[in-house]
Amino acid sequence: MNINSNLLMVCHECDTVQDVSHIAEGNIGLCVCCGERLFKNPRSAIEKPLALIIACLILFIVANIYPIMTLNILGIERETTLTGAALIFFEQGRPDLAIVVWFTSVLLPGFSIFALCYILFSIYLQKCWRFTRYLLLWVSRLLPWGMMDVFLLAILVALVKLSSLADIVLGLGFIAFVALIVCYAAAISSIEMHILWNRLDKNSKGRCLE
Ligand SMILES: [Zn+2]
Repeated sequence: MNINSNLLMVCHECDTVQDVSHIAEGNIGLCVCCGERLFKNPRSAIEKPLALIIACLILFIVANIYPIMTLNILGIERETTLTGAALIFFEQGRPDLAIVVWFTSVLLPGFSIFALCYILFSIYLQKCWRFTRYLLLWVSRLLPWGMMDVFLLAILVALVKLSSLADIVLGLGFIAFVALIVCYAAAISSIEMHILWNRLDKNSKGRCLE
């Protein structure tokens, strides 16, 4: 039995359940009752997000290894990385802020990028690796909590405020971080979760449904 024949979706507007398995690559399915967009079946549904996520992985590593900026105040130079920026909150007696910043700007995006690499490679290679389902479940839940763009906005505000007090040199980490935000947004918007789940079911065929 072709598992695609079971691809049913519920319309968010009118709750009608419809079979969307006949929709070909590159097409969009509309609800037969209310006309709402029901299903998108893009070309390269796995390959495009995989390429973007690999780029994200490289940018994430660069953004976390290299300093995002160097401050020069009265001849004293200080470099800071993304994690170092969170640690500054610790030094200033705000561990709560440090944890929130590090969690939403480093840990969650890092986990999502590594997990999506694992998931997309698993599906692309038509394998059923052990943790793929769990990771896809957790990534679906955690994606809304990644806030790298908010962190970038905070950095920009800090830069404007500090520009009159110190010489600021932006580092390779900052450039990589900005590129990462753009690339990550493109990767996430190119991922259709229902297609990942469907391909995973198709690959597993009952082998890793634990
Ligand atoms: Zn509808």
